[in-house]
Amino acid sequence: MYYPILLIHPSESFCDAVIRGLGERGYFVISASSEKQSIEAIDAGVYAVAILPARIGMTDGDALIARIRAIWAETHIVVLNDEVLNEVDYERICKAEGIDHICSAGYTSDEVSLIAARLAGSAPPMTRIPGGATSVPSASPYQMDNSFEMSIMPSSRGKFVEDPLQLEILALAREYQKTLPGELRNLRMLLSKARQGEDLEEMILEIRRITHTISGTSGTLGFNEISGIVHQINEKIKKVEQKGKGSDDEWQTLLYLIDRAISTPERSSLVPMGAAAAVDESTLLIIGEDRSHLTELYEIGKLNHVKVIPACTRVEAIAEINSGDVDGAIICLDMNNLDPVALVADIRALEGRENLQVAFMSKVDSVEQRVLAASAGATMFMEKPLTEEALVEVAREFATQRAQIDARVLIVDDDPYFRKHISNLLASEHLDVQDLEEPQRVLETLDMANPDILLLDVQMPGLSGFDVCRMVRSIPKWRNLPVLFLTGESDVQARIECFNVGGDDYIQKPVIKEELLARINVRLERIRMFRERADKDPLTRLLNRRAFLEQVTDRMNEGARFSRPLSLCIVDLDHFKHVNDTYGHLAGDRVLQAMGKLLLSRYRNTDVRGRWGGEEFAVAFYNEEASNARRLLFESLKALRKMEFTGDGGEKFRVTFSAGVATFPDNASRFDELFRIADECLYRAKENGRNQIQIVESDATDA
Ligand code: GH3
Ligand code: MG
Ligand code: MG
Repeated sequence: MYYPILLIHPSESFCDAVIRGLGERGYFVISASSEKQSIEAIDAGVYAVAILPARIGMTDGDALIARIRAIWAETHIVVLNDEVLNEVDYERICKAEGIDHICSAGYTSDEVSLIAARLAGSAPPMTRIPGGATSVPSASPYQMDNSFEMSIMPSSRGKFVEDPLQLEILALAREYQKTLPGELRNLRMLLSKARQGEDLEEMILEIRRITHTISGTSGTLGFNEISGIVHQINEKIKKVEQKGKGSDDEWQTLLYLIDRAISTPERSSLVPMGAAAAVDESTLLIIGEDRSHLTELYEIGKLNHVKVIPACTRVEAIAEINSGDVDGAIICLDMNNLDPVALVADIRALEGRENLQVAFMSKVDSVEQRVLAASAGATMFMEKPLTEEALVEVAREFATQRAQIDARVLIVDDDPYFRKHISNLLASEHLDVQDLEEPQRVLETLDMANPDILLLDVQMPGLSGFDVCRMVRSIPKWRNLPVLFLTGESDVQARIECFNVGGDDYIQKPVIKEELLARINVRLERIRMFRERADKDPLTRLLNRRAFLEQVTDRMNEGARFSRPLSLCIVDLDHFKHVNDTYGHLAGDRVLQAMGKLLLSRYRNTDVRGRWGGEEFAVAFYNEEASNARRLLFESLKALRKMEFTGDGGEKFRVTFSAGVATFPDNASRFDELFRIADECLYRAKENGRNQIQIVESDATDA
């Protein structure tokens, strides 16, 4: 998350100079040179830094500061004063007014830019540590609050930031909140043992280790007060260690401190107020016929920063989906005038809504209802009436899913501010950004980060961006990696050089967010298109065999890790040769297409669906045992039986399929074995008269 800098100054030329200075450092500046503009600008957004004169027009700087602070208390303030101040006055005023810096008479645009950049950049950059956890470079865990507050404040557009990194941090904070009381109680026990003198030396060592860990982690995750208290305990115990023993007073203080920590009902400052914290402004479409329940949910949503859009009819639902940006839909299964499953299919048929997330709610929670929900592609099933907790949970889940990263970017630039700025900017657009300071390490970093696009600064110490690009292009694996240069140089020669060394595009610094995103998106679109082409069977839109195998292998690995089953279904159309021979090859193709639609419009994103070849399909249901998988697939068979096809000569006909199901890890632990067993079941289904699904070992069938 990145906030702009606000600059208020009556002289437009001064404003221009500062904008240029900060622009070169990668900061975005909003300037105002009249009283009216200033007020408008202040009210329009949240700023990392505000630079303002002691007075503009009739308005005092103090009033402006109060107005800025009313919007966000953490904005850094720089006051441009035309009087010369002595040092004592300077200190006094800064302290009294909470001003970060005062520039006295004679200030230059360079000086102002530098100070503003320093203040804007003072928030430590978030970094990823191996293993997926998130940390902040932790010189001082107690001063990190601002950067975090900043990153989870609603942006000026008021839209919740769905940065996956932030969601990860929030989830981590919530998890930690559960374990923290236990850790504190354990610490208390150690302290009271130590006080009694039991194995004092060893106890102290353990206490030091634990307090160090708790204070660091709790601080990083936003439990600032507890972190502060535990830090004090750590300091005190160090003194006791030095002396070899503690006085009664010291032990009492230590126990008092730990009791205070235990009784501090702290919630993480990273998790904003309200239970729905993380889903501020997420939007849910709720479809049902029970108006009073919808109204109730609307009110609950309001209290939890979840925008609930109620819809009672199909027309309303489709209109709302078309008009707004919804994170997902909750559909009531108990409706008289609406078929929920058909509704999901209709919604997903809308352009851009193919993957809309859906949850079902019902008064009846039976296996049948759950199977129906899953086969229609719902990711969640909930009991009606929805509780506040459930609503918030769904909203969070949907927002998290939507926030999934879809591409990786590596940026190489020696300027830390610029790197951070670009990283923040791209991270807020669901891009996974890795950054690198030393161009010399580009090749190893490429292998690690495996980016979809590379952003290169041109002037860097040691190796220039041009050199780096040549190096990258010399490796076959990276020959097609899109490379974008970001450079301050604008002359034709530099431009030509960019393309000569194998760059794909060229963007001039200062970088304008929209321009950068537009250029990156063009490249990413092409990558997505290629990927899509490489992975999908063009006739049915299902995964091709290779992609299916890849994804199922991933799911099986996941299943092995989390002890989840996976059921593999092999599906084969019945008498398809006859269909082709009788109704024509094109009619046969239409049947295959319909099969693709049938499988795609149902089931969940976690269920893998592919065309194995010819008129054979494969579906893998993650986390489903064989009997449930058969029921799920049976929904498709029922739907196919009902479909009427038209032959090339206009004649009407229907088709069916047969299928076999085998389950990992019960029937096999390797894919080829699993496939063989499923295929045997399929053979049994064919032998048994077709138009049915067979699973291993039982003789149960669905016909
Ligand atoms: P069974 O019920 O035993 O599976 O009988 P079947 O006729 O379906 O079995 P067989 O495997 O002998 O025939 C499959 C047919 O599917 C043969 C082939 O012409 C047809 N086929 C394969 N790929 C396509 C395709 O892309 N389009 C069309 N129209 N037909 C295809
Ligand atoms: Mg076949
Ligand atoms: Mg067949």
